[in-house]
Amino acid sequence: MRIRSNIPRTADVDCPNCGATHLKVALQVDEGGAYYKIDSTPCNQDGCHKRLCSTCSQFRCSDCLLTFCEEHLDVEYSGFKLCSVCARPRAEEYEEACA
Ligand SMILES: [Zn+2]
Ligand SMILES: [Zn+2]
Ligand SMILES: [Zn+2]
Repeated sequence: MRIRSNIPRTADVDCPNCGATHLKVALQVDEGGAYYKIDSTPCNQDGCHKRLCSTCSQFRCSDCLLTFCEEHLDVEYSGFKLCSVCARPRAEEYEEACA
């Protein structure tokens, strides 16, 4: 985005992930320049730098209670959801118990 001197203080911004339009997003100014910051939560998956807005596909892990984008949802049953990190040791425990 090019920074203009007459840049408006708010703007309608589309979420880069889900495409939802956020109305009257406030202009933020810092060392990196001026930008419109959608109110969002970062995905907690290592290496995933997606910022999830309120309408992005996301879930809260029932174990670590962190928020992730839906692509890291590994286990889901009756409202219980596990991220890929929390699901892994449980799967190993299960395998050991059955061995
Ligand atoms: Zn979104
Ligand atoms: Zn988790
Ligand atoms: Zn993610």
